[in-house]
Amino acid sequence: MALIVQKFGGTSVGTIERIRNVAWRVAKWHAAGHRLVVVPSAMSGETNRLLSLAAGVQEHPDPRELDVIASTGEQVTVGLLAMALLALGVKARSYAGWQVKVLTDSAHTRARIVKIDEVRLRQDLENGCVAVVAGFQGVDQAGDITTLGRGGSDTSAVALAAALGADECQIYTDVDGVYTTDPRIVPEARRLHTVTFEEMIEMASAGSKVLQIRSVEFAGKYKVPTRVLSSLTDPKLPVAEEARSGTLITFEEDPHMAMEKAVVSGVAAQRDEAKITVHAVPDKPGIAYAILGPIADAGINVDVIVQNVSHDGMTDLSFTLSRGDMPKAIRMLNEQVKPHIKCREVTGDDRMAKVSIVGLGMRSHAGIAAKMFRTLAEEGINIQMISTSEIKISVVIDEKYAELAVRVLHKAFELDQE
Ligand code: ADP
Ligand code: ASP
Ligand code: MG
Repeated sequence: MALIVQKFGGTSVGTIERIRNVAWRVAKWHAAGHRLVVVPSAMSGETNRLLSLAAGVQEHPDPRELDVIASTGEQVTVGLLAMALLALGVKARSYAGWQVKVLTDSAHTRARIVKIDEVRLRQDLENGCVAVVAGFQGVDQAGDITTLGRGGSDTSAVALAAALGADECQIYTDVDGVYTTDPRIVPEARRLHTVTFEEMIEMASAGSKVLQIRSVEFAGKYKVPTRVLSSLTDPKLPVAEEARSGTLITFEEDPHMAMEKAVVSGVAAQRDEAKITVHAVPDKPGIAYAILGPIADAGINVDVIVQNVSHDGMTDLSFTLSRGDMPKAIRMLNEQVKPHIKCREVTGDDRMAKVSIVGLGMRSHAGIAAKMFRTLAEEGINIQMISTSEIKISVVIDEKYAELAVRVLHKAFELDQE
């Protein structure tokens, strides 16, 4: 008898029919003797709808109020799912984040989970009751509602699994596992039976949105066995079969698997990126800090950073960030930073994408970067920035080439083949 946390994404609870299907699935696991905590997202499209309502009222919505609004999507699905379970004769109770409680910091719209009080959930589990907990939301020390950033229900589920010491966290979604790349872009993409935690974290940071990156961080930190699997299969699929399906994130590299593993195991793309360049700044100690310090203080995340070779004591510094943050960052640099560092100008390009290849095998193989660059060159795709880690190579390119780049890299590294 295992303790399992099951998360169901927006598409999986997108209609009443699908919520009934989810209830069926949960009831099946419950009948097999497992103790279950279930974490649904909002119905698909609902969070976007709520955010646009807010944007219609205030141009730059107040973050505290935005969280009050955005969190309601999940409050509806926990209630509906608990009712669907009750209708099947399964004991179930719904909880908002604050009822559990899922304590977070106060960074509204991108809060981090600090602690989960799992006492109430344990009582339910002991009583044979399924606890249905709202994903994406928490509460801060002051009692204010917070949300965890887009895709945050993944993180809610893995964090709950960590707090409860669950045997597995199952992320049910609209694909049947983690693929070599987004199967919506490359239909030839293949499902991976296992993926190492290190690869998954690189894939997530490279833009593969199948799991929110923070959920992967939690899985790694607390060694939560996490599986990505489909919610769209027949709900009557036998539990034993479903338990083996999908993609399992592993923490130790199986030496036999590693031998056979492809050098590159995945390709990912991150759209909605922007690039800012600060031109002709004096090349002297402290300049990167003078530029990026205020950006960090404003809570803006910077991704790839490149400082060019200096000429005549001057250099250019470029960095990428989320497209939505670009106007604010440029304004800040012009108003607060430019007068101090005496750069020539600050420019921005908001049509960038980052395309990455990821694979543990890169650690022991030479020539992977060269092959990646050659493949892109053959398609006439200009690389604007490059960044690497031990098991990932990322390039920043014009967004209009993102899909093409993913396709040609997927093929060049033979990811479409067994
Ligand atoms: P949910 O609503 O269940 O959280 P998401 O839309 O957040 O679902 O994530 C699932 C989607 O992630 C898939 O439909 C797929 O298009 C996309 N995706 C991107 N990269 C990958 C990948 N490498 N493997 C599988 N799915 C991926
Ligand atoms: N409903 C939230 C979103 O759309 C959280 C989630 O789906 O994980 O981002
Ligand atoms: Mg998601």
